[in-house]
Amino acid sequence: MRGMAIHDAVEWFLTARLKELAPDLTGMQRQFELHSLPETIKSWEKRGGITWKDYSVEEMHDDGLRALAAWEGQPAREFATDAELPPIGKNLKPVMVEETFDVKFSNVEWYFTGRIDTYCDKKILHDLKTTGKNTPVNQAMISDQLTGEQMGLEERGMMVTGLEIDQLVILKGRVDVVVHRAAPRTPEEIQSWLQDTGEIARAIEARQFPRVRDYQTCSYCEYQAQCSPDFARAGEIAAELQKKRDAEKAAEKEAKESAKADKPKKAKGGK
Ligand code: SF4
Repeated sequence: MRGMAIHDAVEWFLTARLKELAPDLTGMQRQFELHSLPETIKSWEKRGGITWKDYSVEEMHDDGLRALAAWEGQPAREFATDAELPPIGKNLKPVMVEETFDVKFSNVEWYFTGRIDTYCDKKILHDLKTTGKNTPVNQAMISDQLTGEQMGLEERGMMVTGLEIDQLVILKGRVDVVVHRAAPRTPEEIQSWLQDTGEIARAIEARQFPRVRDYQTCSYCEYQAQCSPDFARAGEIAAELQKKRDAEKAAEKEAKESAKADKPKKAKGGK
């Protein structure tokens, strides 16, 4: 959920840039505080998808602001070569932001539908991810999402020179910006991906595909209310508990502060 709110604020920033406005970090952080985070929380609660335990809204807010600053604060491009620095944050010049696409499978009457995060002037496809830990594997090499997005762009006659996952790793006290970059998929790789994914689509169509029923995965799913209403209800209960916990924490903090303010100060000098 934290990631969705960060993503929304970055989208605001990049869309403004696409319109040739001059958004800055302060504006993006304000967007995050006033719109992205509260609206994401609201929609998440409605879908019953709250899964955090001791992670308060306050911490989510602070981590979000730090992550946005880390993403935006890449040094100016002119001070580095392509190999040294990825064009992200304030160096990223978008050509396309959050555009949907459909790719037709060859073996079933289905379409793979997706949304392109960002396609930039370097003809690189970017996918922004936030995580709580670093991963040793180059995610751009194995991302199905990027494969689909590449096809979506190529179908529109656009060239893709690279695939990239820009990962914001939010750790205690710091945010690491890790860029996973890969060459575009070859035509053979695309064919094999289409075949594999088509098989999965066919299995779903034939109702041979078991429900995952994993709380974390299902919390992102738009069909949760139809497929797993018990999970949806569990999410609502979790949201209520979280609100109660936040209110208790805030009351505790307030009580501590007022006790501190009421404590008589010791006179200096012993007289
Ligand atoms: S809720 Fe969604 S992700 Fe979970 S099992 Fe059902 S369809 Fe699959």
